[in-house]
Amino acid sequence: MEDKIIEEIMRIVGKENVLASPEERKCYSYDARNEGVIPDLVVFPSSADDVSKILKLANRHRFPVIPRGQGSGLTGGSIPVYGGVVLVFTRMNRILEVDTENLTVTVEPGVITFDLQQEMAKQGLFYPPDPASFKYSSIGGNVAECAGGPNSLKYGVTRDYVLGLEVVKPTGEIIKTGVRTMKGVVGYDLTRLFVGSEGTLGIVTKITMKLIPLPEAKATILALFQEVEDAASAVSAIIAAKVVPSTIEFMDKASIKCSEQASPMGLPEGIGGLLLIEVDGDRESIQPQVEKVRKIVLDKKAIRCDVTADPQEADRLWQARRVLSQATYNLNPVKIAEDVVVPRSHIPTLIRALEEMEKRFGVPILSFGHAGDGNFHVSIMIKDTPEDRERAEKAVEALFEETIRLGGTLSGEHGIGTSKSAYLGMELSPEVIATMKRIKELFDPNNILNPGKIFPE
Ligand SMILES: Cc1cc2nc3c(=O)[nH]c(=O)nc-3n(C[C@H](O)[C@H](O)[C@H](O)COP(=O)(O)OP(=O)(O)OC[C@H]3O[C@@H](n4cnc5c(N)ncnc54)[C@H](O)[C@@H]3O)c2cc1C
Repeated sequence: MEDKIIEEIMRIVGKENVLASPEERKCYSYDARNEGVIPDLVVFPSSADDVSKILKLANRHRFPVIPRGQGSGLTGGSIPVYGGVVLVFTRMNRILEVDTENLTVTVEPGVITFDLQQEMAKQGLFYPPDPASFKYSSIGGNVAECAGGPNSLKYGVTRDYVLGLEVVKPTGEIIKTGVRTMKGVVGYDLTRLFVGSEGTLGIVTKITMKLIPLPEAKATILALFQEVEDAASAVSAIIAAKVVPSTIEFMDKASIKCSEQASPMGLPEGIGGLLLIEVDGDRESIQPQVEKVRKIVLDKKAIRCDVTADPQEADRLWQARRVLSQATYNLNPVKIAEDVVVPRSHIPTLIRALEEMEKRFGVPILSFGHAGDGNFHVSIMIKDTPEDRERAEKAVEALFEETIRLGGTLSGEHGIGTSKSAYLGMELSPEVIATMKRIKELFDPNNILNPGKIFPE
């Protein structure tokens, strides 16, 4: 990148808000799973105006701009593919306005998801989307990926809470989309288009979201099953019984073993499947929900069913699930993590198919995740060898084929980024991909913003 461009960027945001050394820039070539190329510059803007000026400069000089929240993405969304400027939103991290009369909140993109939830809870308010990374992910990243989490089963995903946005278009104009009201159908729904667009259509600089009252009470249920199929069919049975827990998280045998080894909580050996279920609502609604769930899991041959309403004990029950993501690396150093979704009635079929794939391809496959949504984090753990990589690639292809055959989708919440773009055509027709590419061209005629993402090249 030419010195005069670097100087211009330093003039816009201040020299102290630019990282230019190779060591510092290298830190921004990764996300939680992928490695890209080292960016030319890392820049910390403080306003939509800063972002606008940098994007206008990028169009004049044709360099890529890559938005980045906390870099916890799992599909390469925030990594540079062709170098350029990484824009990091850690300085834009204010909660701007809480409207307690209308139950809305307006924030900057760098606010940490957990911080927002904690602040809202102090006022008896609830912002439900809770990706497992919520302690460090940013709201901007959540919006760009349309993040979900355990709470999605009852409360929906990020898009269900975003009412309106301030967005800087790739060409530098600052626009407002959506509403601050609970309804609004004026013109096309650009807000929904930006949510989940993986930082390719515009840079989000302000977000207005709806809030709901914090549920009065909740209870946590840990159910252990000897056979994984029984755990899977308990999920389908709970959904079919029209109970709506806030959360149904699932872990298979390999996942349970892995987390028990990393952080023992004294689970019996040889457990085939585990469900962590939470119900919430008015105080008096909790016990009837617990009883319904308990009856279903016991009918489905749960060998143990622990229930607690005590927050500290609930925290202990969550331990196995919480340590799991990191614990998987004790198995092998490389993780290929997918997040497929299938209709919930097909969960047992998917679980059987995964067992068969593990045998067929000879690689450890763990599955866990938001089973209540039919959303499974399938982790293929491999050694860093060409043979293992080839086996994993075949397993991923087989997983995606089975997912589509069952009427599912390739990603429930992690997005496509760079890591899944080669498979886009398995789910979307050429006409649909061409339409999406035309939308990208309309917003970003010079392909400045986050190039090399979503679409196969
Ligand atoms: C252990 C672990 C568990 C996880 N669990 C979940 C889970 O349960 N559910 C889930 O949904 N995800 C999960 N994730 C994935 C990840 O945390 C989410 O995708 C999260 O939303 C990313 O937020 P971030 O701030 O780290 O964004 P980044 O990773 O920095 O960026 C993600 C995308 O957002 C874009 N972006 C960032 N800020 C902006 C902005 N202001 N404007 C426009 N585009 C922007 C980036 O360009 C990129 O495409 C998990 C990740 C880890 C490591």
